Amino acid sequence: MPSPDNVMDKLVSLAKRRGFVFQSSEIYGGLGSVWDYGPLGVELKKNIKERWWRAMVHERDDIEGLDAAILMHPKVWEASGHVAGFTDPLVDCKQCKNRFRADDPRIKGTPGQPDAQCPVCGMKGTLTAPRLFNLMFKTFMGPVEEDAAVIYLRPETAQGIYVNYLNVLQASRQKVPFGIAQIGKAFRNEITPGNFIFRTREFEQMEMQFFVKPGTDLEWFEFWKAQRMQWVQGLGLHAEKLRFHQHAKDELAHYAKDAYDIQYEFPFGWQEFEGIHNRTDFDLSRHQQHSGKKLEYVDTATNERFVPYIVETSAGADRTTLVVLADAYHEEEVSGEKRVVMRFHPALAPIKAAVFPLVNKDGMPELARRIYDDVRRHVNVFYDDGGSIGRRYRRQDEAGTPFGITIDGQSTQDQTVTVRDRDTLLQDRVAADRLVAYLTEQLKG
Ligand code: ATP
Repeated sequence: MPSPDNVMDKLVSLAKRRGFVFQSSEIYGGLGSVWDYGPLGVELKKNIKERWWRAMVHERDDIEGLDAAILMHPKVWEASGHVAGFTDPLVDCKQCKNRFRADDPRIKGTPGQPDAQCPVCGMKGTLTAPRLFNLMFKTFMGPVEEDAAVIYLRPETAQGIYVNYLNVLQASRQKVPFGIAQIGKAFRNEITPGNFIFRTREFEQMEMQFFVKPGTDLEWFEFWKAQRMQWVQGLGLHAEKLRFHQHAKDELAHYAKDAYDIQYEFPFGWQEFEGIHNRTDFDLSRHQQHSGKKLEYVDTATNERFVPYIVETSAGADRTTLVVLADAYHEEEVSGEKRVVMRFHPALAPIKAAVFPLVNKDGMPELARRIYDDVRRHVNVFYDDGGSIGRRYRRQDEAGTPFGITIDGQSTQDQTVTVRDRDTLLQDRVAADRLVAYLTEQLKG
């Protein structure tokens, strides 16, 4: 068994080499825990987000979509509790200027005392006593950089949904219970970021807030827990690497009555990549208090008024992408040669099929181009006529392309092609004019 670090190293290096993920601003030495998605990565992440949107918005009558701005009124973050509560205790080293979480296991001694030793420069007595540090990124709105102009980059997308809940309700004519879904960027000035795209300072969330009548929240909580696990399983992940983790009382966020994480067994251990939270009426009540606007729901059938409870499903698009990448990575030996293959669920694969003329003569390139032009109108395909057919297959294995379409000598005679399956390596002979139907059938689900 390769060591966990080794697996992550291989994944990071494959991600760079093949254009899934690059370090941000790499030519300047990189920017800490910020990553860019390359040609394959952007397709993979987009496929995950689209699958989520389809399941959460298009396939449901009771959920509406939203795209709220990243910048919000600063009072939002007072109401949400982020200004006061979104903090980690940190210590600084006065010598080397590094900053650590106060509970960093590498620190020896008590920070603030002469015995404490900096884990980076090794100096003793240079660590400050712990201070609270807010994880929100601050910036200024308008031309003057003064306290009154401070605004924040949102640390979660959820608040954009809460402040728009009445707008969406009225515009869509939904009735409680109903939900609002959103995919968007969030920013956290994380102090111990790391593990590639697992914990980053800029990331994307896929969040859905479901508004329910108080008293029905437990039922809906169970419903969404089950739905989300089902969706995650539908990504084709190894079932034994998925589990729920219920938050213990001392783990629960200030707003939550109950919370479950969906965890994945990453090479560095079991970690959350999605959370299902019963947020009660905390958020809407707080916004009601802070804004002075009534955020009650009126049930027209019974004339009851109430502030809805909220069941939230909150997933990271980048973290889910890491789950999909880690789960797909596979090494094996084929005919005495090592093969690295990304076994993505075909629906998530960045490229669905590659078209290869066996040789660049005898009418094969012309037919291959015709097939390529035909298929690309339906799915994302890649044309490759460079190098031996074996090398071309290997390149697509690393990209996780489920099907390799080869145009050979027989193709120009009878208009059939071979379709190679990435996982079984079996080849089917398919009529060129049936290819689109064949691929559509195989890519379903
Ligand atoms: P963690 O403790 O792992 O930082 P969290 O409990 O603070 O996460 P939530 O606030 O519940 O996470 O956010 C919901 C989801 O958003 C997480 O499950 C994760 O997928 C994603 N997420 C949160 N913070 C980050 C981050 N810094 N980088 C990437 N994804 C993140």
